[in-house]
Amino acid sequence: MKQGEIAIVGAGLGGLVAGLLLVKDGYDVHIYEQAPSFSRLGAGIQLGPNVLKIMRRLGLEQQVEAMGSKPPSWISRNGPDAAVMADIPLNRRRDEYGAAYVTIHRGDFHRLLTAEFPADRLHFGRKLTSAVEGDRTVTLTFDDGTSVDAAIVIGADGVNSVVRETLLGEEPPLYTGFIGHRAIFPTARLKDSGFDFDPCVKWWSEDRHIMVYYLDDRQEEMYYVTGAPEPEWKNGTSFLPSSKEEMFAAFGDYHPMVHAMIEASTEITKWPLLTRPPLALWSQGRMVLLGDACHPMKPHMAQGAAMAIEDAAMLARCIGEVGGIGDYESAFALYRANRMERASRVQEVSNANSWLRTQENPDWVYGYDVFNIPLRAA
Ligand code: FAD
Repeated sequence: MKQGEIAIVGAGLGGLVAGLLLVKDGYDVHIYEQAPSFSRLGAGIQLGPNVLKIMRRLGLEQQVEAMGSKPPSWISRNGPDAAVMADIPLNRRRDEYGAAYVTIHRGDFHRLLTAEFPADRLHFGRKLTSAVEGDRTVTLTFDDGTSVDAAIVIGADGVNSVVRETLLGEEPPLYTGFIGHRAIFPTARLKDSGFDFDPCVKWWSEDRHIMVYYLDDRQEEMYYVTGAPEPEWKNGTSFLPSSKEEMFAAFGDYHPMVHAMIEASTEITKWPLLTRPPLALWSQGRMVLLGDACHPMKPHMAQGAAMAIEDAAMLARCIGEVGGIGDYESAFALYRANRMERASRVQEVSNANSWLRTQENPDWVYGYDVFNIPLRAA
């Protein structure tokens, strides 16, 4: 059955932004998402100025700013004694980066993007099982037995991407030996602690860290996400419950301010941190990859979703640049030429977990403007 010129597999942050930009440019776009619906996942997300500039293009910049917290800076502290290792201006340098830096509830941000996308073009409960390219279309088949044809397919289906597997064969992502604990809790639970908490802070020690920020400017909710060693993870398990005991075992030697946050937690989960080596192949024929389907990374720069969103914007820009999807081969080649180096560099720095540990200049990440950067020829 014919249903749309462009099929996007996956309604994560990358897939939705690609869909929104391409609909705005007048394309016939459908998104296919495996989940039957979305729930408000207990996680925060940091959106740098590089992402807010893309929200501006979608007319959503002010809404995102209003929903989230806008920390003046990113503080790096030594875990055991709270000594300041770096103080990197975020919204204090907003004009120079060209947009705000927002920390926000991931579920709220995702819901905002989902609500903007035409509901009759977002198909839930469609788990892709195969993608077969013919002469003029790709046929996508889903686990409910349905299938659709599309002129081009954007694989935005995350770290275990079926589209990627179609292009490159089966190869599970690599478990890095690290997990991320995540918790959101009401800030009111900290009121008797006597501490003055930073709006956005990363606590570091040699092989682990804990990143903490508010999710709104009223400072009603606080979120933390860690990176901590855990030798084993059962392949295929997306996350597991964790506990205050596990957090104290991992961060027992950290400052009492960190202990107060652990004590204030209501529900803690833990997630495997996965990666893949940088990919040389970003597209083949009528299928193209973006985001975690292409370049998953440890999330320590808080730029994983940002790279998915930047990919989406650059892909839409390149399709426009070559005059539409009729010349999809040129569009995909241009897209890869303009994304590969940056995404691979971010992947490398993020995996090394060195970002903003010392007083460095983040301009190359936050100052980037996907719509105005001069394009490099394919
Ligand atoms: P995803 O968000 O994974 O979306 C993929 C979508 O495809 C999902 O909705 C999925 O259900 C769907 N899908 C999958 N398979 C199929 C299929 N076969 N058929 C149909 N649909 C399918 N990044 C940041 O920028 N800032 C942060 O602060 C941050 N913190 C993080 C903290 C942790 C602990 C972790 C693990 C990651 C963090 N990241 C962060 C990284 C970020 O979550 C990812 O890089 C980002 O979600 C990738 O977006 P995506 O759209 O490529 O994929």
